[in-house]
Formats: sequence, C-alpha cells, structure tokens
Amino acid sequence: MTTHEKRYVIIGNGVAGTTAAETLRKNDPNCSIHLFTNEPYPLYNRVSLPRFLQGVIVEQKVMIRDLAWHEQRNIQLVRETMVTEIHTDERVIVTDKGEHFPYDSLLIATGGWANPLRVPGADDVKHIYNFVTLDDTKSIIERMAESRTAVAYGGSFISYELCDGFAVRKLDTTWLMRGPYWLRSALDPDGGEVVDNIAKKFGVDIIHGDEIAEVVPKNGVPSYVKTRQGREIQADMIGIGLGITLNTHLVANTPIEVRNGIVVNEYLESNVAGVYAAGDVAEFFDAAIDRHHTMGTWDNALSHGRLVGTNMAGGRQAYLDVPTYTSPLFDVNIAVVGTAESGNPELTTLARREPGEKGNENYRKLFFRDNKLVGVLMIGSPKGRKKLVEIVKNQQVHETAPEREALLLVK
Ligand SMILES: Cc1cc2nc3c(=O)[nH]c(=O)nc-3n(C[C@H](O)[C@H](O)[C@H](O)COP(=O)(O)OP(=O)(O)OC[C@H]3O[C@@H](n4cnc5c(N)ncnc54)[C@H](O)[C@@H]3O)c2cc1C
Repeated sequence: MTTHEKRYVIIGNGVAGTTAAETLRKNDPNCSIHLFTNEPYPLYNRVSLPRFLQGVIVEQKVMIRDLAWHEQRNIQLVRETMVTEIHTDERVIVTDKGEHFPYDSLLIATGGWANPLRVPGADDVKHIYNFVTLDDTKSIIERMAESRTAVAYGGSFISYELCDGFAVRKLDTTWLMRGPYWLRSALDPDGGEVVDNIAKKFGVDIIHGDEIAEVVPKNGVPSYVKTRQGREIQADMIGIGLGITLNTHLVANTPIEVRNGIVVNEYLESNVAGVYAAGDVAEFFDAAIDRHHTMGTWDNALSHGRLVGTNMAGGRQAYLDVPTYTSPLFDVNIAVVGTAESGNPELTTLARREPGEKGNENYRKLFFRDNKLVGVLMIGSPKGRKKLVEIVKNQQVHETAPEREALLLVK
C-alpha cells in the first residue's frame, strides 16, 4: 500500500501534458505533480503560431496558461529542463541538471521536433528556420523584417504555414517541394492544383519536383539556394517544413515499446506498468479504425490529455474520437478529418472539385474502408463538415456507389 501521496511526473507541457496535469489535480487534490519542459514558457497555442507569424495576433494571444495558473493548482512546472533518462525499475526520471524525481505514475507527452535541413552550406549560415516553437516564431518574425526574399521548403503543413507567413509579409516567396503537389499524403493532383492556384493568387512562386541541393551563403547569411535541377533561387531566409521526428529517443534504453511513436493501448497505457503516453508522441490503439497509429493534431492531443489524466488517477476510459485538423489555408480553410491517407491500400476514395467563393475552388475528398466513411479532406467551404464528422463517428455503411457519391454533396 502506498504510504505517501501519489507522485505524478509528466514530461512535456504541451496541450497533452498540461491538460493531463489539470485533470489529475481535479481528480486528486493531494497528489504531487511535476510537469517538465525544456522550453521557457507555460502552455501556449501552437495552432496560433501561424497567425502570430503573419502579424494577425500579438504574442500575448498565443499564451494559454501563465505561471500563476500552475501555482494555484499546485502543479510544479519545471521549465528549461530536459528530462534525459527514465529508469522504469526504480520509477525515477533524471534531468539534464542531474536531479532525480521519483514517480508512481509517469506520462510521456514529448511531442516531436522538426527535422533540420541537411545539405551542404546549411550548417554554416544563420536564418534557416524550423517552425514549431514560440521561439522559432519570434526569430522568423525578426528576420522577416529585414528580408526581401524567402524560400519555404517542403510539402508539409508547416511548409505551407511558412509560405503563407512569408507571402502575407510581402516577401518574394518561393515554395519549393520535392513532391508533385502539396500534402501528398492526403491530396491528389487535382487537390494539389486547387492549393497551387490559391497560393499563386498571393504571388507565391511554386516549384514542384525539385530539392535544395546546397545553400550558398554570403557573409554568413543565405544568399541563394541551388536546387538539384540546377535552379538558383534568391533567399534571405529559408523556412523548413520537412516533417517532425517524434521525441521517443528518451525511452530508447528502457523496456517501453516504441514503433513510430510510444506504443500505448486505448487507455494510453504503455507496456510498462505506471507509464503512459499521450498526444503527438503516442502511437495509440484507435478503436475507430481497429489499429494503432499516431496523430499530430491539437484536438487529439487535448482529448488524450483529458483521458490520460483520468486514467492515471484510477479511471478506465478508452479513447474513441474522430480527430479533426482545421486550419486557414491562405484565404480559405482546410479540414482533415479521421483517416485521410492517399497511399493507404485499404482505403478507396472519391473526390469532387467545384467553383467556390472569392474566385477559389472547393475541393472535397472522401476516404472509405469497407464502404464506411473513415476520412474527409475539405478545402474551401467548410459547409457539411460537421455532418460528415458525425457520419465518420457513426461508422454507417454506405453499400452502393450512389450512396457514397451522395456524401460528396452533403452540405
Ligand atoms: C506551427 C504549427 C501549426 C500547427 N497548426 C495546427 C492546426 O492548425 N491544427 C491542428 O490540429 N494542429 C496543428 N498543429 C499541431 C499541434 O500543435 C500538435 O499536434 C500539438 O501541439 C501536440 O501537442 P503535444 O502536447 O502532444 O506535444 P507538443 O506541443 O509538441 O509538446 C511537447 C513538449 O514537450 C517538450 N519536450 C520534449 N521532450 C522533452 C524532454 N525530454 N524533456 C522536457 N521537455 C520535453 C517539447 O519541447 C514540447 O514543449 C500545429 C503545429 C505547429 C508547430
């Protein structure tokens, strides 16, 4: 029997970790909670960073929690501290400052860090930016004010956000990506063309099927990038959106199971007793699709945080949700719901493109497994999204082709 109050340690104070801490405190007024982050800030909204980048909102609006919020709830927020080791036998974590913190229950909510640009010249210059943290964003804003040209590189959501930020701030912007169109994991050539047309309206120069081969510097800052196809593109600054690597290295020398992410069941428990994972870093069992997967969305991390906080405090709730990623896309919107995976051989798809508002187009793509709607991608008008989310949730079967095609028109 435990003779002390329960000790919770949470690694990562993103939305998953901070929400879990809040839920733990609600469920257990006497426990101790240590919440670690290598960053200097309490929880802020990563989803708001693009709007901060564009100058639409100020830094204050990005912050979600302050230090007083943690104090009021007796949550020990340990900032600028990297957790470097986990010892699951002794149930203790170690920080980069050499401190040891014992736990009864541990949550790993470490998210992921951006992949850097690895080409000749990249290590020798300043002003090549990833875009994941508040500090990244502040540095980019500072450099944008003194730049005329920029390259946004990659086919990910982050590369688009960088491109949007550069274009809105009136830099001469080139969007360079290796793939034949943006968001190849979910879109198709038609959807890619819809996105290109929107970006072009904002004066962005788009190049597909090419890669940065070298960054050519002048006085320690980028001058231009050379591409594999022999292009030379002027760039006072370069924004990198080449995906993220999930922060699983911390558990490398432990028995905790890792595949893409930290493997957990539908209760977000790992294979090691007392150890949980949540948010982007969790490869969780998703009953809606009957398999494990990772999901890099705010809503998913928030729901994970609530659920894992409940379960760590003795509850037993299974995770069941339809994650939705919504974001502005230049002057329209994009929504990705559920499993929207173009390369997945288990899925069949239907798509429709039609004229939309402001001279843009609407594009809708539906993903089916066994004639059930499992994923939706919408660009342009969001009308019908909520109904489609409900249909995904209900796991209704749409036996005939006309039934499935009718979903393209749901408003
Ligand atoms: C620019 C940007 C725009 C986005 N836009 C959208 C959007 O429009 N819609 C959407 O749904 N999602 C969006 N996302 C994704 C969304 O923000 C993430 O899915 C969500 O923030 C993940 O939360 P998390 O708590 O799992 O991890 P994170 O927010 O990544 O938090 C993990 C924290 O743990 C820290 N950490 C890691 N390892 C350690 C360690 N060893 N010791 C101490 N601390 C550690 C990290 O530095 C980080 O602070 C966006 C992300 C970015 C970067």
